[in-house]
Amino acid sequence: MSTLSAVQVSARRESVVSALTSPDLASIVDLVVWVEADRMGGPGDGPVAMAASHVGRVRLHPDGRHEVLEGLDPITSEDPMAFLPYDRECADPGPRTSCENSYPYAASRILSLFADPTCSPDVAVMHTPRHFFPEQGGHVGEHGSLDVIQSRAPLVLSGRGVATLGVVDAHARLVDVCPTLATLAGVPAADLRDAGGDPLDGRALTTYLGGEPLVEPAVIGILWDGAHCGDLLHLAESGELPGVARLINNGVALRGGAVAHFPSVTLTNHTSLLTGLGPGRHGVLGNVFYDRATGERVVANDSATWHRSAEWLRPAVRTVFEMVNSLVPPGEPNPADPTPGGSRPSPGRDSPRTACVNEAVDRGADYSTMAMIRDSGISSGAAGLGDQLPDAATSSHLHDRAHLANSYYSWCTQVDDLGLDQMRALWGSLESAPTLTWWASVVSDAGHHAGGPRSDIARDSLRDSDSRLVSFLDHLDGLGITDQVTFLLTADHGFEGSDPSVTGSWRPALERLDIPFRDEGPGFIYLLPDPDQPRDRAATSR
Ligand SMILES: [Zn+2]
Repeated sequence: MSTLSAVQVSARRESVVSALTSPDLASIVDLVVWVEADRMGGPGDGPVAMAASHVGRVRLHPDGRHEVLEGLDPITSEDPMAFLPYDRECADPGPRTSCENSYPYAASRILSLFADPTCSPDVAVMHTPRHFFPEQGGHVGEHGSLDVIQSRAPLVLSGRGVATLGVVDAHARLVDVCPTLATLAGVPAADLRDAGGDPLDGRALTTYLGGEPLVEPAVIGILWDGAHCGDLLHLAESGELPGVARLINNGVALRGGAVAHFPSVTLTNHTSLLTGLGPGRHGVLGNVFYDRATGERVVANDSATWHRSAEWLRPAVRTVFEMVNSLVPPGEPNPADPTPGGSRPSPGRDSPRTACVNEAVDRGADYSTMAMIRDSGISSGAAGLGDQLPDAATSSHLHDRAHLANSYYSWCTQVDDLGLDQMRALWGSLESAPTLTWWASVVSDAGHHAGGPRSDIARDSLRDSDSRLVSFLDHLDGLGITDQVTFLLTADHGFEGSDPSVTGSWRPALERLDIPFRDEGPGFIYLLPDPDQPRDRAATSR
């Protein structure tokens, strides 16, 4: 634990915020965010979200009020439907400044990031959308920001039990996915809670469902990592993604998609998708973060560590697989449902009730790709699968072989082909199919990182993913069971294109302060105790 006093933390945080909001860093620093004790300081007052940029500073009250403390409000919009319809985003794709941008649910998302007892940073720094930082792991296309485009994932619900509404002008949040999948799979509303009995952060999207619980539900959640919401809907509407178009024709797509948690990075949001909780409750603060309790740097999003995801989950977390597996068989009393013999899906079979394909956050799933990796004993995890993966060059879903020159795209093609193989095997018949299947694909992340949204490689990555979806739908058609299945298609975040001419790092500005810190991500600033200061646990105030 840090030995810095609350007064020291506050003073050093102020130095960090001042340094990062200097006008000469304005091209690369979009916003700096943190939390403070509520100014009123009364009993029961919780922390309050703060945001600053070179234009000014604002306190974001839980009731939605923006209290400008200095200069101008750096968060002029929180509209989750900003830059819609999609033509508006395409006409003005950025790079844009914070005053032209929108940051949906700013206060609640900032508060969640800072709610973990030992792993939350002291300050989070957001790159401007234009910032290009390949020397620190950045790409042509990037995500991670609180802003609306990088936080907007698609959300499509389709098939059995879903209202056929087509594309509607609405949005949801990624934390709504877990309770929606659980509800479709038969989990009663009273059971949509964490292990401590507290309600989830998300809510079931019942507006788009039929209302009656499904008998013998068969639900498939599909994740296309980093799939850009606007471009996915645009390509589907123009006939280029026939699989997605078919899902929309038999259901509903939200024009505003689903808003990710902050930071809008992969493992934070895969965990939010599958637990219904924000990072402050589920514990996966970022793809990389620091745990003050253990002094360890946690690298959660890496092919070598995905199979260890359960290690980072906080004790109160329940995954959607655990919620569905806790359903009570017919005839047995259910403490959450007083109706005697209330209809429940029957688990009376040997096949898996829950399945988790190519997804890190798999705890509790009866079938799981990551469990097979754990059982194999390969210490390097999925990174060590190598020669067990199919040959990318022979993939029948690849739209342009030239993309295989990108090693990440090539590996994703192998992994996604293996994912489709697993899906076909799991779905040999309706009777043996899982009640809930989660199917994650990654090539869309590779395509969007490589070229940014709307690039040829990004669009081909969506076409490749759609080809695998069509292949799977054909498989279900062959079994004659497609209309018995409910589908949910989403992603974990959006993407924006950077500007290769906008480079640089905020690190020298922090080093000039001459205070000990860690910068993980980069973007998560942890203030550290002075190295020569004797450790004094009695002085610990954090
Ligand atoms: Zn991702």
